[in-house]
Amino acid sequence: MNYDYDVIVVGGRVAGSATALLLARLGYRVLIIDRSHPSKDTFSTHAIMRSGVLQLQRWGLLQRILDHDTPPIRRIVLGFGQQEISFDFREAFGVEALYAPRRHILDVELLAAAIEAGAEFRQGYRLLDLIFAENGRVTGIQANANGTQTELRARFVVGADGMRSRVAAAVNAPAYETHPAVSTYAYGYFAGISSGSYDAYFVPGVAAGFIPTNDGLTAVFTARPNNGSLIDDDEFYRLAAAASPNMMAQLKTAERMSPFYRTLGLPGFLRVPGGPGWALVGDAGFTKDPISAHGISD
Ligand SMILES: Cc1cc2nc3c(=O)[nH]c(=O)nc-3n(C[C@H](O)[C@H](O)[C@H](O)COP(=O)(O)OP(=O)(O)OC[C@H]3O[C@@H](n4cnc5c(N)ncnc54)[C@H](O)[C@@H]3O)c2cc1C
Repeated sequence: MNYDYDVIVVGGRVAGSATALLLARLGYRVLIIDRSHPSKDTFSTHAIMRSGVLQLQRWGLLQRILDHDTPPIRRIVLGFGQQEISFDFREAFGVEALYAPRRHILDVELLAAAIEAGAEFRQGYRLLDLIFAENGRVTGIQANANGTQTELRARFVVGADGMRSRVAAAVNAPAYETHPAVSTYAYGYFAGISSGSYDAYFVPGVAAGFIPTNDGLTAVFTARPNNGSLIDDDEFYRLAAAASPNMMAQLKTAERMSPFYRTLGLPGFLRVPGGPGWALVGDAGFTKDPISAHGISD
């Protein structure tokens, strides 16, 4: 069979671009398709954990993230009711801080690096279905390419298309360890918060915290158990006050610079991650509650 590519990666954000980058650096002919573009912000905060920063460093991309004046986070503060502990980030393997770049910076830099490594990117391509050989192996994709239906062949198709993965649905990838959405979240961006650390505060039934990011802004989040209703503006501040009076004191003098973004929560699950001619990466294979702040790093 004539293949157009060695690998087609569906989804061009953190998981897809990182996978494409590594494959292209190994010399494979890689195509990334995305129905959208990673320069559009996505619904997510963006605290990267040590493993994620380490990967950026190893791939030679950390400096590109720092070039956007992404602030270093060298201290972590954890509050549990009256008790608060803080600790400094320990330098290891050349990584001296954590970072929380906005997704329109992180995802765009990852995609740019994948393209520089030789991957091709096609925007406005929405996966419709996979193409299967008679023996059941995946051999390509059917996509809506900016309004035109098209078929492309590849030895391998990688689903990096998020938790509602079309690739996973097409191959019927079984999910396991499934859990309902238990926590409801809201977050927004504020100016004038000087914390400079990852702060996470917990009291029974409430979590809240600070994630310092680009442009002098801090992503502030609150969370509580999912009772079927979203966190409205008033409740956002009530939850912050309940989680930590210190946090609320800082919020009072801060200026909100964005709307609040809200979700009832995310289910958690793993999916069987691969089969003949296909694989799943990122949220497509492993979606978890955002409180873990590990989706990007994983
Ligand atoms: C409220 C909230 C807060 C979070 N906070 C954090 C945090 O602080 N730290 C952290 O590490 N993680 C966090 N996460 C999780 C994180 O956002 C995800 O783990 C991460 O975005 C997964 O990246 P991905 O590349 O796998 O998928 P996605 O970011 O979902 O990207 C999937 C891509 O696939 C494309 N796509 C989808 N379907 C198709 C199709 N049919 N055809 C073509 N393209 C398609 C989409 O356009 C998209 O670009 C949070 C999530 C939420 C909801």
